[in-house]
Amino acid sequence: MKPDETEPAPTEAEPKYKDPFVEAIAKNPRPLSMVLIGLLGMPLVLWLGAPSRTPAEDSEPERPAFESTPLPIERVSPAPLEPNPSSTESEQAPTPTPESDASSQTIIGPAPDTPSAIVLARPTITLIIDDIGYNEIFGARAIALPGDVTFAVLPHTPHGKELAELAYQNGKEIMLHAPMSNQANMALGPGALTNELTKEQFTQTLSASIDAIPHLQGVNNHMGSALTELETPMNWVMETLKEKNLYFVDSYTTAKSVAGRIAMEHAIPTITRNIFLDNVQTHDDIDREFKKLLVRAKGKGVAVGIGHPYQATLDYLEVALPLLEQEGIDLVFASKMIELQKAAAITSAL
Ligand SMILES: [Zn+2]
Repeated sequence: MKPDETEPAPTEAEPKYKDPFVEAIAKNPRPLSMVLIGLLGMPLVLWLGAPSRTPAEDSEPERPAFESTPLPIERVSPAPLEPNPSSTESEQAPTPTPESDASSQTIIGPAPDTPSAIVLARPTITLIIDDIGYNEIFGARAIALPGDVTFAVLPHTPHGKELAELAYQNGKEIMLHAPMSNQANMALGPGALTNELTKEQFTQTLSASIDAIPHLQGVNNHMGSALTELETPMNWVMETLKEKNLYFVDSYTTAKSVAGRIAMEHAIPTITRNIFLDNVQTHDDIDREFKKLLVRAKGKGVAVGIGHPYQATLDYLEVALPLLEQEGIDLVFASKMIELQKAAAITSAL
């Protein structure tokens, strides 16, 4: 039983939130690829060999961040609303067991370091695209998304460095997406941080990953549902980040993560992920999660979402992000979100 999966099921049903944004998304013409998906279903995408399967993700159906991972064609229905480890895992066959944060969808309560509400002129979101580095085409397409999107790049990957450079040239913010051990023993790829490493090995591995990617401002965890529960390695992470003057975003792949708390203890600027957009890579599921992100921002002032360079996610965000302005929502880099949350925490403490 993975801790991730023992999380309580999301209690809220489909958001009741309906507004012009919803309608706009619904009316907006979809790219051809999305039409094909809608008409013919995900199996066609699989048959076509959609390249979007690349990267893995922590939460959700965690997959190794390698190209050519088969599409989980069964995953066309919404994620289970109750903790159900067996169903999540079976959906992944024949791919390795997901890191399963099927529950991560359920981990949407207030982040440990998030003030209960922040008063801003406009609701503000941060959107991080993880798993940049293996797929050049989808990475570049993600970087072309409009606005202040933050990109988390996997270390020592075929295209990580050049995509980080491209993102920087496009005025985007870049983070290291540091692979950390997970409950399901999923492959982590190069730069893996595990509890088996000595402190010296651990610190050297993390430092080498940081040094491998240009223009970094922060770090978040790739997978990590095992490691982020452990204080000692998280202390090592934060000691290194302090030295390098980098912020930390807890991807929050386990409800037992101590990463955010340890970061604060080291005075590392930090925030925590609230919503994973694409645990299930269909338009409707991404649409539902994205709207949850907006609803949370409208209610609490701020919200932090993480997505991936999947075809369905990019198809969706290419339409949705240009509509944020008319929806009255600001999109800011992770570093800015950290400033906002820190300022709000100070204000509320006065
Ligand atoms: Zn990841």
